[in-house]
Amino acid sequence: MARIVMKFGGTSVANVERIKKVAERVKAEVDAGNEVGLVVSAMSGVTNELVGYVRDTSKFYDTREYDTVVSAGEQITCGLAALALQELGVSARSWLGWQVPIRTDDAHGSARIESIEGEEIVRRMGEGQVAVFAGFQGVDATSRIATLGRGGSDTSAVAIAAALEAERCDIYTDVDGIYTTDPRIVTKARKLDRITYEEMLELASQGAKVLQTRAVEMAMKHRVRVQVLSSFEDKPGSLIVDEDEIVEKEVVSGIAYSRDESKITLTRVPDRPGSAARVFGSLAQQHINVDMIVQNVSPEGGYTDLTFTVGKDDYDRTVRLLQDKDAGFAYDELVPDTNVVKISVIGVGMRSHAGVASTMFEALSEKGINIQVISTSEIKVSVLVAEEYTELALRALHTAYGLDAE
Ligand code: ADP
Ligand code: ASP
Ligand code: MG
Repeated sequence: MARIVMKFGGTSVANVERIKKVAERVKAEVDAGNEVGLVVSAMSGVTNELVGYVRDTSKFYDTREYDTVVSAGEQITCGLAALALQELGVSARSWLGWQVPIRTDDAHGSARIESIEGEEIVRRMGEGQVAVFAGFQGVDATSRIATLGRGGSDTSAVAIAAALEAERCDIYTDVDGIYTTDPRIVTKARKLDRITYEEMLELASQGAKVLQTRAVEMAMKHRVRVQVLSSFEDKPGSLIVDEDEIVEKEVVSGIAYSRDESKITLTRVPDRPGSAARVFGSLAQQHINVDMIVQNVSPEGGYTDLTFTVGKDDYDRTVRLLQDKDAGFAYDELVPDTNVVKISVIGVGMRSHAGVASTMFEALSEKGINIQVISTSEIKVSVLVAEEYTELALRALHTAYGLDAE
């Protein structure tokens, strides 16, 4: 007997028939003697639709009201899942974020979970009741609903697993595990039986949306055993583990891409102390996250070109801020480019192997793909290329690092 958390994503609860299937899977775990916490997302497409309503109503919307609207999808699926379980003779009760409560900070739209009060739920689970949680939502200190950022039900699941001291957290989705890269783009992508927390963290933060980055962070911190598996097929998935549980370490174990990038170049910025600090300080004040940065000193001296990337959602605000005449930023021209994608190769083996970056550059150059910006960290190399090369670049790199499935 164990206490487990099972999470089902949007495609897995896309309609009433699928919700009934989810209930059957949960019942099987209950029948096996397990205490189950079930976390559900909104039906696929619903959150996008709700976000659309908000944007159509208000361009620069109040994020508190955004949260009131977009959290609604999960309210529906958690009620339906509880009903579907009851229909199967399983005791079940739904729980919205504020009812648990799942307390968050007040960063509406991408709030962080601060605490979860699980005592009452653990007591009920002990009596055989399945707790069905609405993913993606919590409540802030002023009792307003707060959502956790897109893909946030993964984080709800891991946080609930940690709070309930569950033995494991199973994330059921529309692929049967974590792959070397997005299997919907690269058909030769290979399923990984195991991946380290660190690698999964990099993959997620570089765009692999199979898990939300914060879910991996949370799993790493609280040592939650997370498994990603198919909600449609009954077979083992991929397990996230500590580095010492992996015997053969690949140099590169995964490749991620993110279309959520836009590039801005400021030309002829005065080359003197404080120039960069002024630009990036102003962006930071507006909570705009800057990702990649390059600076080139011009040959004649005195000036530099400054290129950096921000997320697509922050792009308009960034341009508006830098073009604000009153702010007095010193540069010649602002050159924007939203037609870019960031591709990252990731692997813990990079720490002890040379030549990872050069393999990447060669593979891209063979396909005639121009690299615009490069950034590296201990276990990652990222490049920015034109968006139309996304698929070509992913496939070329997948082959170059020997990741293709037979
Ligand atoms: P859910 O609705 O279940 O949360 P998501 O759409 O958020 O599902 O995440 C699953 C998707 O993540 C897959 O359909 C796949 O296209 C994508 N994906 C991206 N990178 C990877 C990867 N490395 N391994 C598996 N899936 C990936
Ligand atoms: N429904 C939310 C979203 O689409 C949360 C999730 O699915 O994880 O982002
Ligand atoms: Mg998801």
